[in-house]
Amino acid sequence: MGKSNIPQAPRSRRPPRVQAASNLKVKIGLEVHCQLTSLKTKLFCSCSSDYRASEPNEKICQVCFGLPGTLPVVNAKAVEYATMIALALNCKVANRSLFYRKNYFYPDLPKGFQISQYDKAGGVPIASSGFVDVEGKRVRITRIQLEEDPGKLTYEGTIDKSSYSLVDYNRAGIALVEIVTEPDIEDAREAKMFLEKLRSLIESLGVSNGELDGAMRCDANISLAGGARVEVKNISSFKEVEKALNYETLRQKTFSGNATSETRHWDERRSITIALRSKEEEQDYRYFPEPDLQPVLIEPQQIETVRKAMPEVAHTKATRYEKDFGLSPQFARELAANKGLSSFFDECARLDHGYQEMAGLIVGELSGREHEVSPAEFVGLVQMIESGSITRAQAKEALREALRTGKPVREVVQLKKFSAVGDERAIAALIERVVAARPDALKEAGRDKKAFNYLIGQVLKEEPKAQPAVVARLLAQRLRGKQGKKT
Ligand code: ZN
Ligand code: MN
Repeated sequence: MGKSNIPQAPRSRRPPRVQAASNLKVKIGLEVHCQLTSLKTKLFCSCSSDYRASEPNEKICQVCFGLPGTLPVVNAKAVEYATMIALALNCKVANRSLFYRKNYFYPDLPKGFQISQYDKAGGVPIASSGFVDVEGKRVRITRIQLEEDPGKLTYEGTIDKSSYSLVDYNRAGIALVEIVTEPDIEDAREAKMFLEKLRSLIESLGVSNGELDGAMRCDANISLAGGARVEVKNISSFKEVEKALNYETLRQKTFSGNATSETRHWDERRSITIALRSKEEEQDYRYFPEPDLQPVLIEPQQIETVRKAMPEVAHTKATRYEKDFGLSPQFARELAANKGLSSFFDECARLDHGYQEMAGLIVGELSGREHEVSPAEFVGLVQMIESGSITRAQAKEALREALRTGKPVREVVQLKKFSAVGDERAIAALIERVVAARPDALKEAGRDKKAFNYLIGQVLKEEPKAQPAVVARLLAQRLRGKQGKKT
């Protein structure tokens, strides 16, 4: 890592131009903090984890504050959930992992240290060495660790100008899973796609609800080839990640690789990153084993039990859709990524076999509105397409109209007098008329795809309700007949 043959842009005293370093390779590594929002209590005490609806500093106890005489106890369910995430991200789960103290002095930490995990100096995090595949690209997962959330600081105005900050410790001690990637991501768009996939994976496990404010947060390490590593903190939502990364990449490029190693804060309101402090080195945290907690032991057979009990995650579901229903990879992926759409598809698939047609119509037309039409009604519409009584375009229009007006789909089809011309003899007769008027095109159509398609177009012009596929089949038959072959 870090080595590169790419030459550095020449340094000059003149203000750098953006293009100067624009061909330098960007490397992005992400650290995602994900709250296990499905837990009832915090990571080391029995305080309620439902802090969002509470008044500040209401959900706290002596353990949250590490008062003398108190001892933390690990939430077993948190270990189970972290194991599920690790398995979903193809990680190796450690049979014995350790908690460490990460010491730093900041008002959001009531104890003066965060109980976390560590992968150096004898530390073992709960899982490591996984990967997530995003649109054909593999992003490696370095490690997954369990740790406690710090409290929440609220600043007056912006972080760099605020004269005071308010602290709420309700969040202190909430169970977090930190997911660290290798610097495999090359631009903001890839980062966004990775995070969306990660979120859908974790949500499909039922351990966290990424919709909740602050439930998933992201820090990003960005460096240009040869340049220093800059950490951007406090990106509060995935929507902001793309903006923050684009901003920071551009900022570093204008410095032609002269960026210094530092921690910067993403200021959402102003859409810029601002320098916070020079980056802490690991020794600044004085990591050491947490003396008040036993190692976390997970037997191999416990891991198997968790694996078997896990709900199907999105990518497994997508693979199943391709295999069992013959869906195209795109439809399979889009359905599987959306819980509402995929369960609607599952219900429809029990009623009929037009899987690919169903999937296309669901993905294309129903997103977010799948509860407004019943599976039976929807399957009825798909059957009309499959039997050739209406065209796919008509089906889409009928569905849109039904969603707009609230009328039953079948009624819309009748009202609009939708029908495909299903009578093949009528279409064959029409083809005869069309080709008779265009003998030259007919001669070409046997060997020239363009002429063939031209004739189909002419037939559809005369009869827009004919199914293109049916016209193509009959026209092909007609051509073969002409050549004296059997049809
Ligand atoms: Zn507590
Ligand atoms: Mn962390």
